[in-house]
Amino acid sequence: MKDQFDREITYLRVSVTDLCNLRCRYCMPEGVCRKRHEEILSFEEIVEIVAAAAALGIYKIRITGGEPLVRRGCVELCRMIASVPGIREVDMTTNGILLKDCAHALKDAGVSRVNISLDTRDEDKYRDITGGGRLQDALAGIEAAFDAGLTPVKVNTVLIGGFNDGEIADFVEWTRETPVELRFIELMPMGGAFGQEAYLPAETVLEKVPALEPVQEEGGVARLYRLPGGKGRVGLISPLSRHFCGTCNRLRLTSEGKLKPCLHSAQEIDVRGRHGAELLEALRQAIGNKPRMHDTLDADHPSQAGRAMNRIGG
Ligand code: SAM
Ligand code: SF4
Repeated sequence: MKDQFDREITYLRVSVTDLCNLRCRYCMPEGVCRKRHEEILSFEEIVEIVAAAAALGIYKIRITGGEPLVRRGCVELCRMIASVPGIREVDMTTNGILLKDCAHALKDAGVSRVNISLDTRDEDKYRDITGGGRLQDALAGIEAAFDAGLTPVKVNTVLIGGFNDGEIADFVEWTRETPVELRFIELMPMGGAFGQEAYLPAETVLEKVPALEPVQEEGGVARLYRLPGGKGRVGLISPLSRHFCGTCNRLRLTSEGKLKPCLHSAQEIDVRGRHGAELLEALRQAIGNKPRMHDTLDADHPSQAGRAMNRIGG
């Protein structure tokens, strides 16, 4: 179904939990409270919403969170979603910590590929930015994703000035021999621990690595580059310096059943408890209400999302 700005809405991001086994400083607020089990959508409710979305033309689903793999039965949920008629692709965004033990099961359940978040390749810095995570676990998750064929494996790296700008060239070098798609993402002002001083425009990557050459391929929201002869690719995602609202094709579903037409708007439509025609109507409303673009985003104009990233699903 098209929205009022002629954008075909084909993609739903489904957050299956707000909880996480990490505490990335730009993402999670202090002291996340655990929701009671009844407060989050059951698998059956999620599948019903996905089926209604599919009836309106949505065919791509991304499972996210919080950390999706901490939700018990996540693999089964993926299987249920992948078998909804009309759903052609199920992907996942994960921190990779638990992936080592379930990558093959995810592939078997119908997951096509994964995006894994990794902001540094230094053990101490990883522990610091994630609030105690072990780099080896994330790297093992990336290995497991390759091994299971959850490809192309994409790695999400949030650009954080004063934290990982010194690692950009090394990160890019990684793509020379590894067929990974590295995606540098501009830090969004979502209320996390970093302010304007940490914001780096995605263009910084091209300044640090001038050898990168553009790739004329569809990269979704990412502008794609590669090192000459490199096996992998480098994507730049610039929600601040070059927003991509004009081609936005997505809706988001929070773990407690709110549809968000736009990541950076407080507008939410509660779909919990709606079924049949009423559920379809709520989805039509969410698509119809997608704003043309989000407001300016910078240190003086933080996101109007009204929620931290872990409570939306990045
Ligand atoms: N836990 C999973 C993970 O980390 O991949 C999935 C959820 S996480 C909220 C999804 C993505 O949002 C991650 O790649 C994370 O780096 C990104 N993210 C979180 N807060 C962000 C922010 N303030 N600016 C830019 N990206 C952010
Ligand atoms: Fe957890 Fe992902 Fe947020 Fe990090 S970015 S705290 S892994 S939800």
